[in-house]
Amino acid sequence: MEPITLTFLGTGSAIPTKRRNHSAFLLNYKNENLLFDCGEGTQRQFRYKEISTTKLTRLFITHWHGDHILGIPGLLQTMALNNYQKTFHIYGPRGTEHFMSKMFETFVFWGKIDIKIHEVSPGKVFENEDFTIQAEEMAHGTHCLAYSFIEKEKIRLDKKKLKKFKVPNSPLMKDLQHGKDIKLNGKTIKAKSVIYKQKGRKITIILDTKMNNKASELAKDSDIVIVEASHASELEKEAYEYNHLTSKQAANIAKKAKAKALYLVHLSQRYEHNQQLIEKQAKKVFKNTKVPNDLDVVEI
Ligand SMILES: [Zn+2]
Ligand SMILES: [Zn+2]
Repeated sequence: MEPITLTFLGTGSAIPTKRRNHSAFLLNYKNENLLFDCGEGTQRQFRYKEISTTKLTRLFITHWHGDHILGIPGLLQTMALNNYQKTFHIYGPRGTEHFMSKMFETFVFWGKIDIKIHEVSPGKVFENEDFTIQAEEMAHGTHCLAYSFIEKEKIRLDKKKLKKFKVPNSPLMKDLQHGKDIKLNGKTIKAKSVIYKQKGRKITIILDTKMNNKASELAKDSDIVIVEASHASELEKEAYEYNHLTSKQAANIAKKAKAKALYLVHLSQRYEHNQQLIEKQAKKVFKNTKVPNDLDVVEI
């Protein structure tokens, strides 16, 4: 199985700290390198991880608050200087085309890069043969999308059964995989008896929002759900006023979604030396909770 690698490039919130930069999450799967948000200084985080930004294929923007997008001009400039040859696809909520054009008006952009902007609505926003990206509108006082990466179900051949039936390494295997029964040494081998379905993996990224039902609906059955936890649970009123989540609310989203693992990000600077508090509170509701640090990597 091809690995899905998640790199937490930035796990801080509105103000960066010594340990936490602004939001940015990189998902690598086969030849696709998907960046979710691009806070200021994100390209520097790529350098720390020794990953070239020219490997990027797509950027998904959750919303247009500075801590999620101020790294875009610098990132694009570096990609252009490094001779980025592909078309770079940028997806974002309503207003993205307008904001992108304004961004280019504010400075002299060096170099050329082919950019395609996709202003997207909730629903399926991208699909290829391996996976889809699903978006859902959050409640953050401005258009804000959460995203799910959903790997497609795969038909696999059961190697043990192939051995038992003595199926040679030949085009017959492809026939079986495509659901076609085959004839071998006068015997029929039913495709159904040697294939099985492998469920796709799912990763959901829920950044700035206050509590809302769509968050857990989007995250349903995720292997990993990344959720913002700007505040500790005792600051629920404050979190609500500023359209953010608490540690406990984030954990409730993961629990309701029946997710396998929860990663809490977008921590306020006030928890710089007390992230254990956020983790502890969430764990009471959802046991498999982690608070990653910048540059941490998770593979599934
Ligand atoms: Zn934010
Ligand atoms: Zn925000």
